[in-house]
Amino acid sequence: MTDIAAYYQQVFDHLGFVCITLDPDLKVRACNDFAVRQFGRPAAELSGRPFLDLVDEPSREAASRLIRQTLERGEPDEMEIKYAKDDERPQTFVLIASPIKDEQGTIVGASISMRDISERKRLSRELSKARRMASLGKVAEAVAHLFNNILGGMQTGIDAALPSDSPRELRRMLRQLSQSISRATRITQQLAAFAESENAVDEAVDLTHLMASFIEKIRGRCEKSGINLVTDIQEVPSVQFDGNRLLSVLTSLATNAIEAMSEGGTLTVNMHRDQEVAVIRIIDTGCGMSDETQEHLFEPFFTTKGGFGGEDLSKIGLGLATVHGMVAEMGGSISIDSKLGRGTSVSIKLPLRRLDSDLAAVADAAATQM
Ligand code: ADP
Ligand code: MG
Repeated sequence: MTDIAAYYQQVFDHLGFVCITLDPDLKVRACNDFAVRQFGRPAAELSGRPFLDLVDEPSREAASRLIRQTLERGEPDEMEIKYAKDDERPQTFVLIASPIKDEQGTIVGASISMRDISERKRLSRELSKARRMASLGKVAEAVAHLFNNILGGMQTGIDAALPSDSPRELRRMLRQLSQSISRATRITQQLAAFAESENAVDEAVDLTHLMASFIEKIRGRCEKSGINLVTDIQEVPSVQFDGNRLLSVLTSLATNAIEAMSEGGTLTVNMHRDQEVAVIRIIDTGCGMSDETQEHLFEPFFTTKGGFGGEDLSKIGLGLATVHGMVAEMGGSISIDSKLGRGTSVSIKLPLRRLDSDLAAVADAAATQM
């Protein structure tokens, strides 16, 4: 190959996904063979058309915003879009917009690549359905086990007390019964929170304000446990989150951190903005976790504390499972970094804007679950 232009043309034509270049006014300048097949029109017919005409209505506005931002900022960005060919089921594409710059670095247009990820999406939905079914089995097993223990204990107590005529003995028995009932109630409350974590409702909340009230809420607990509290909260824009749920996520993480520092230590809470994401970190200098523990952290009923014979019977290992569900429902993610004996750092990332495609994905997931 001697002619470099011809070589690049061949590379462009034979890319295994849609590739289109746009003028600054978002009109199609060139398109590869894959694009011709995907849009079912010859290249000559696509050329000069506004690109957004090729995008289905629900994704059009978000795609327009994304491409314009790419042209303004000079940085690539991506989103998911739907595209329906004739009467077929809509396919999901990941659309990547990248700036085209000339030798001086001036932006002279954008390139668009689009890859069909419908199959990948379908498989991941199947997988999460299968996981959900598997975890449902586990949840049922664990609940049965917990309540079996509680009911068994109550039965034994009653059987022992029944033949007794001593009011003291009967009172002791009633006290024991009352404790068992409280424990069952606490477990039921945690189960309800876990189930609810998948049905979050959006309510406007000011994240910066919410962090301030969270810190006030845990300050007293830290003082009581001899824990030094260090905070650094950067202001972030207001977004749509369910404030109560977010507060319960943070409280659950702080509880774990405080419980991990039975000998005292430092709890650091900070929040900063990273582009369109708010990053919240809760860092403790507590006992940390083994690799084995880290593997099972988010599983419902995984606990090293109580529940199944440990010391604190109200700890049944639903904390992080609930937190995980709630954060995912908010479109965010959670990651945990921990070393045994060295402490733990939990990071939560929450989106400060919601792309239309996110909402479409949520609607899509809801539709397939019906
Ligand atoms: P629970 O607190 O009821 O045990 P969680 O789901 O909140 O359940 O946590 C699961 C397990 O993860 C805990 O039992 C503990 O072993 C571990 N863990 C969670 N957070 C921390 C932390 N900050 N430091 C050390 N271990 C932790
Ligand atoms: Mg916990």
